[in-house]
Amino acid sequence: MAEVLVLVDHINGELKKLTFELLTAARELGEPSAVVVGSPGTAGKFKEQLARYGAAKVYVAESDDADKYLVTPKVDVLAKLAEQVSPAAVVAAATGEGKEVTGRLAVRLGGALLYDVVAVNSDGTTEQSIFGGAYTVKAKAAHGIPVISVRPGAVEASEAEGAAAEETVEVPATDAAKSAKITGVEPVVGGDRPELTEASIVVSGGRGVGSAEKFEVVEKLADALGAAVGASRAAVDSGYYPAQFQVGQTGKTVSPQLYVALGISGAIQHRAGMQTSKTIVAVNKDPEAPIFEIADFGVVGDLFNVAPQLTEEVAKR
Ligand code: FAD
Repeated sequence: MAEVLVLVDHINGELKKLTFELLTAARELGEPSAVVVGSPGTAGKFKEQLARYGAAKVYVAESDDADKYLVTPKVDVLAKLAEQVSPAAVVAAATGEGKEVTGRLAVRLGGALLYDVVAVNSDGTTEQSIFGGAYTVKAKAAHGIPVISVRPGAVEASEAEGAAAEETVEVPATDAAKSAKITGVEPVVGGDRPELTEASIVVSGGRGVGSAEKFEVVEKLADALGAAVGASRAAVDSGYYPAQFQVGQTGKTVSPQLYVALGISGAIQHRAGMQTSKTIVAVNKDPEAPIFEIADFGVVGDLFNVAPQLTEEVAKR
């Protein structure tokens, strides 16, 4: 079976759960080989989990420098491996970094770039969701190695046995790789909370929250549930919450076990980023709000009455 190279996403020595989604998607096209680019000792901790999601091989590309530079070491390693093994495809996450890696890699390989896909099919076609989920575009690479970025949360991760046989790969020390050095990494607002696209629970607030100060009600419920905080674009545009927490077509896509929408109407562009959540709970004072069309549980009421009661009840448990 042909190899499919999968760029492993990790941060602070932890695997990101979207890596399991990438391995699952890659299995449609062949046998996934996980590619770990990081500082020495990174891959060893991941091996077991990578095997559990079907990684037949783990390419270990470790060096002191690998984490210090932006995307180029990853592009260099993937390009080198692609030339060596002629994979059926290269798969990475459609995150900011993953999109840059895949874009550069496709140019480097003269391959086809399939961007921000939500599904990968065994016949080699990929699916993109556009216009807020109103249309699905199917596309297939016409020549070269397909380089695919997969939207986080779009593919449901499933387990499959893999051998995770280790193979060491040298990280090329090119001048290009050293063109931009990371000088510091600092947590932003909400640093103690789970990352939005990784969280199994997300509590989001919309324009109905009314102000930046009142977003505290959203944060309190999120903290009681151990959740990430999200926001609608209207809440972001109104200055209630920072833009990196926006959920939707022009924000992040999330697919948690539980999504709680507080004071969010449920516009199609918001739904595009959260409608695949497993359970959706909506609190809105308008019984006609479109969010109730996709909610599993809905409360028609004032979020400033409902959310604090919910927070109190959760905190008791
Ligand atoms: P509103 O639509 O104003 O809804 C506020 C809701 O709060 C109402 O339903 C109201 O009944 C309820 N409410 C008010 N007070 C209370 C209260 N006290 N208690 C309970 N409920 C209350 N939007 C996104 O979210 N993400 C995107 O990525 C995104 N991308 C876009 C891209 C494009 C190209 C365009 C054109 C639009 C995009 N939008 C996006 C905007 C989207 O169309 C909506 O305008 C936006 O989602 C509305 O946000 P909202 O639900 O918070 O606000």
